[in-house]
Amino acid sequence: MVATAPRCEAEPTPALPPAPPFLKNCPECDAELALLRTIPGRAAEYWAMRCTGCGGIHLNIVENSPPAC
Ligand SMILES: [Zn+2]
Repeated sequence: MVATAPRCEAEPTPALPPAPPFLKNCPECDAELALLRTIPGRAAEYWAMRCTGCGGIHLNIVENSPPAC
């Protein structure tokens, strides 16, 4: 019986953390969301979306793209 040492094969590429799903439709009534305003933040923008169906407010978090150096 041979104990096989773990070989260095292709390393798995580090997966980026999944971005939160960008809301396009109201999660409650599935109507369209209209962009109400954007709220700039330090690392991300917050998009306040208003549902055209039920009038509910939903926030999208839009991460800022890193500055191109
Ligand atoms: Zn709605």
